[in-house]
Amino acid sequence: MPTIDAILQKRELDRDDIIALLGASASADVELIRSSAEKVLIDECGDAVYYRGLVEFSNYCAYDCHYCGIRKSNADIKRYTLSKDDIVAAAKWSIRQGYGSVVLQSGERRDPEFVDFLEDVIAEIKSATVSEKLPNGAGITLSVGEQEPQSYERFYKAGAHRYLLRIEASDPNLFALIHPQNQSWQNRIDCLKTLRQIGFQVGTGVMIGIPGQTVSNLADDVLFFRGMDVDMIGMGPYIVHRSTPMNIHADYYDQHKDKIFQTALLMIAVCRLVLKNVNIASTTALQAMRDDGRELGLRYGANVIMPQTTPVDVRRDYLLYDGKPYMSDDARLYHSDLEKKIKSIGRKITVDDWGDSKKAVLRSQASYQCLTLKSKPLKSLKSKSLKSNSFLVTGAPPP
Ligand code: SAH
Repeated sequence: MPTIDAILQKRELDRDDIIALLGASASADVELIRSSAEKVLIDECGDAVYYRGLVEFSNYCAYDCHYCGIRKSNADIKRYTLSKDDIVAAAKWSIRQGYGSVVLQSGERRDPEFVDFLEDVIAEIKSATVSEKLPNGAGITLSVGEQEPQSYERFYKAGAHRYLLRIEASDPNLFALIHPQNQSWQNRIDCLKTLRQIGFQVGTGVMIGIPGQTVSNLADDVLFFRGMDVDMIGMGPYIVHRSTPMNIHADYYDQHKDKIFQTALLMIAVCRLVLKNVNIASTTALQAMRDDGRELGLRYGANVIMPQTTPVDVRRDYLLYDGKPYMSDDARLYHSDLEKKIKSIGRKITVDDWGDSKKAVLRSQASYQCLTLKSKPLKSLKSKSLKSNSFLVTGAPPP
């Protein structure tokens, strides 16, 4: 079997290589993988860390994922939906901090009232955040699950331009183990394809450490991300929630915690090595397992952080898993603390920028060139500014 060092010298990693990297346990090997991933990140994307203010705006959910704390059948939580004013206020707060982008996340609802509401919220955030620094308003990422194609289109037209929809497990059998029968793996795939066709920058991801999941499953997840040609990855460790059917695995989780955490970091590193110029989030679930989890995620190749900006009084009702950090009541204090940590690992926080992935920027430039070449001679591209990115995807000419 080739050494980790030999694998890291290869230009293209195959499935066996990925399995070997994800299975690494000797600390020297793990450090080699980490530093290689960090180098690829700096070479391909630079040292920027992008913030998105995360607003968990509703915990109502029509789905019953076996692992999730806000699943429909969990009667132990108080359900809430923030008002439009509260969501817009949270988004404006993020923009004032220089984050440039927000993520709107919620449980899954597809009813017309929800779709109308979200469309309205997106448009309102856009118009409330236009400034000289952000001429196209805030960058808006959605994470509201499986929706009808028409709804995705309405959200896109209202101004959202990125969408996160985790496949959760790219192996349909593993997916079926952690979801009720009426939830379909195929529908998630179809949604991801539809989102891309509409023009969204698309992100997906999995949970790491699902009982029964193997290193080969994770390697296939990485190959799945590559096959889907995604722009963004959001992954994190699976953490037991006591009021879910998967609480029977609490012992498994306790016994394997360290391994799960280490594997989650290795997944970030391997995704960076294989996918190179995508955005990878260092997620809250990492921090739930270890105080410095999110900084470690950055050191293993992640480049996006999503500070919670959900109003404090409802945060505890958005408990996807046990031990989710509530964060300081004072978002400002938390913010400066995070900033110090990011600087201490030699990275730079980007301000007033949507922070699209390099991959998405290159894709939109290519599609713009293609469109222009078809219709008229190529003008100089003004797409260096990432802010005009979604504009280019729609094929409109630059201003
Ligand atoms: N309903 C939306 C988003 C809400 S849940 C959607 O499905 O896209 C956001 C993410 O939290 C999920 O995709 C899942 O991967 C993660 N999550 C839920 N329960 C979790 C748990 N117990 N441990 C770790 N991550 C969890």
